[in-house]
Amino acid sequence: GLEVRLASRPRGWPIPENFDIAEAPVEPPGPGQLLVHNEIMSVDPYMRGRMNAGPSYVPSFEVGKPLEGGAVGEVVADASGRFQVGQKVVHPLGWREYALLDAKSARVVDPDAAPLGSYLGVLGMVGLTAYVGLFDVAGFTPRDIVFVSAAAGAVGSLVGQMARLRGSPRVIGSAGSAEKVRYLNEELGFDAAFNYKDGPVVEQLRAAAPDGVDVYFDNVGGDHLEAAIDLLNEHGRVACCGAVAQYNVPDPPPGPHNMFKIVTKRLALRGFIVGDSARRMPDLLHEVGGWLRDGRLRERQTVVNGLRNAPDAFLGMLRGENIGKMLVTI
Ligand code: NDP
Repeated sequence: GLEVRLASRPRGWPIPENFDIAEAPVEPPGPGQLLVHNEIMSVDPYMRGRMNAGPSYVPSFEVGKPLEGGAVGEVVADASGRFQVGQKVVHPLGWREYALLDAKSARVVDPDAAPLGSYLGVLGMVGLTAYVGLFDVAGFTPRDIVFVSAAAGAVGSLVGQMARLRGSPRVIGSAGSAEKVRYLNEELGFDAAFNYKDGPVVEQLRAAAPDGVDVYFDNVGGDHLEAAIDLLNEHGRVACCGAVAQYNVPDPPPGPHNMFKIVTKRLALRGFIVGDSARRMPDLLHEVGGWLRDGRLRERQTVVNGLRNAPDAFLGMLRGENIGKMLVTI
């Protein structure tokens, strides 16, 4: 089957030459293993970090080896005794047509309960990131005015909707195009939204947040974080989820200039990694799964067809070509 390998490590923005698409033999599963025919895979910002060398919270991708990431596919052979041929499973070996897995790393999903891609989005790691970041890390309460960046993306669009559904008096989002701003205002029920490319973030946020901000869900870093620190109310909280503005910048500029406001306003900025919170998955499926079934929460997906187009989909996502979750059918 086809697989996408890391041909070389990018510096700054990845280029096509950093990827290699090649045919690999399909091996039968050994004891404890499972062979899956992948149908759909996720492209995520954290994959850019795994293309770099050096220590981080997940191991780096190896040059010459296939990339990895969330995928859903059909079991074609099982040597673990845990799965049946024909079942759909979610697992961590995307970027390839056939995945040979440790059966412990796969989980059965129900194709009748939700589209397969949703298990890579709202009902998977992405949904859990929004849920844990907003409710556990930022400690959201129904009094909190919420600001979220990359708000039309996979995580951000769920954060805004979850805050609204739990009773936030005002949900504010920023995104990178007029179409995305319209989507936030008209389809997702945000109270205010702006295009960060239209002018300084701090000025646009000040106009959108006349009563300040209590919780900032940070997907971006840089000038977004600086603006949020300016507009946060006393005892405001920041869930530090990501810093997508700097993933392709080899030498990111220095951080916020207004750090002393963290002191004077008694702010709390707290980072988190979703993998630490798998125990919250049942709560996500119960509460957010319920909103999804009732039609109170929407999940949008941007789907690119064909494994050969996966590198372009990945780069397109980093450039902002997605609304909602970016996925690739295989
Ligand atoms: P998204 O679907 O939000 O896609 C990334 C988006 O980032 C793009 O659509 C683009 O939208 C925006 N973006 C790109 N460059 C910039 C920039 N320079 N300034 C502002 N926005 C930019 O991805 P995810 O929802 O999967 O991830 C969102 C964030 O959450 C990322 O930072 C990611 O690393 C983080 N994350 C963290 C996890 C954790 O455990 N801590 C787990 C999962 C995700 P636009 O058009 O608006 O620019």
